[in-house]
Amino acid sequence: MSAPQSIALSPAADGAAAAISPQPIAPPRNGRRGKPGKIYARETSGRFNRLRWGMVIFTQLIFYGLCWLPWDGRQAVLFDLGDYKFHIFGLVLWPQDALYMAIVLVVAALALFWATALAGRVFCGFACPQTVYTEMFMWIEARIEGDRVARMRRDSASATLPGTARRVAKHAAWWLLALWTGLTFVGYFTPVREVVAGAFQGQLGPWEWFWLFFYATFTYMQAGLLREKVCQHMCPYSRFQTAMFDDRTKVVAYDVARGEPRGALHSGAASGDCVDCSVCVQVCPTGIDIRQGLQYPCINCGLCIDGCDQIMDKLGRPRGLIRFAAESAGQPRATTDGAMATGWRPRLWVYGALMAFFTGLGIYVLMHRVPLQVDVLRDRGALFREVEDGRVENAYRLHILNMDGEGHRFRVSVSGLPSAQVVSGEMLDVAAGSTANLPVTVRAEAGDGRPGANPVQFTIHAEDGAETLQVRENSVFMQP
Ligand code: SF4
Ligand code: SF4
Repeated sequence: MSAPQSIALSPAADGAAAAISPQPIAPPRNGRRGKPGKIYARETSGRFNRLRWGMVIFTQLIFYGLCWLPWDGRQAVLFDLGDYKFHIFGLVLWPQDALYMAIVLVVAALALFWATALAGRVFCGFACPQTVYTEMFMWIEARIEGDRVARMRRDSASATLPGTARRVAKHAAWWLLALWTGLTFVGYFTPVREVVAGAFQGQLGPWEWFWLFFYATFTYMQAGLLREKVCQHMCPYSRFQTAMFDDRTKVVAYDVARGEPRGALHSGAASGDCVDCSVCVQVCPTGIDIRQGLQYPCINCGLCIDGCDQIMDKLGRPRGLIRFAAESAGQPRATTDGAMATGWRPRLWVYGALMAFFTGLGIYVLMHRVPLQVDVLRDRGALFREVEDGRVENAYRLHILNMDGEGHRFRVSVSGLPSAQVVSGEMLDVAAGSTANLPVTVRAEAGDGRPGANPVQFTIHAEDGAETLQVRENSVFMQP
């Protein structure tokens, strides 16, 4: 089996341009004890760690909290698949509104491209659910099983009762979190209060049980057991991210010129700033050595920056031996430490302009959205009927879909022929978010229009002053 490859930017032979060359990833150098191949990430502190935890708290407050928020007597955000309705605060979206979902997805993809071109895999390092849940699971692990050294010692030694008890407690805590995550997930599709009550009373439906346990198991596996392997081997994004990189994309990079030759402090041989303490490797959640250059498992989390900055502080040397920088020809450029202010270039403008366009388009179509849909069907039984007063009668069936969050009384009128008039089925009450069928009869003077089909228009509008609730539908009136 071939060794895993990393992508590293290294100087071309003539030093004129950077070339992408594959380099083998060194085995994780984060300790000699513990299970072989297992990564024992060391906890660290610093600005990037605080930023990561800020994102964990921000995203999880939204995820765990939003489904409990009431809005107009119902759950603020509820994806009601049974009734084909998405409730998002006061807005009710139907399958007919799939355009909005498409626009949201396009804007999200463009935002990801833009952020990647600007600062590499920052989404992976700070906002990806895999990263966020792994962070939470690792925090639980450290609280129950102790720090990195304690965990490595325990894994190297024979099993003991206290050690086993800690492991069992850790997995139990992971499962609790995973189950609550699964329950919350299902709570976005079935009202969360019903899900919680049903789960504790054992009265959920089979699909709710399935998805609760599926999502819980998925979370437990991904964040508890697989962790960095998901980023390294399963995530497709890591494979094509370099397509969005250029030589001004900021990535977490080691300053080779300043750090090398590395060596232990007071060894006498080294003259670079890197004291080869391996802290940057120990804190890395994916277990890589950033000093080897840019590698695809690196998620740009910045924890190695925090770790190395602490070492530099202790040594009284300037921070930034590892920092966010554009890596060109193997050398991070001299940039402001950690700054994101990489020079603007065409691809950022293009991504930004597309994002602004699609966001504007989404806002425009949302503001002009008419939450009313009407289909006019002609009565198939008879083309027309001549009635006693000498007029001609046509029958229709109107299928009215009120997509608004409130019920309305709708009035139907007809135009297109001077004498055309709705004689029955003029009004109908349609409840919020529901459909109704309305039989409508239209009469016109015989001879009004030409023999055969005459175009007419039905106007359906809400009577209660909701001006946006008005649609016009075309049909035909048959004359003898
Ligand atoms: S933390 Fe800094 S000093 Fe220590 S090995 Fe890493 S780069 Fe070198
Ligand atoms: S190398 Fe640094 S930035 Fe990359 S994943 Fe490891 S700790 Fe995070």
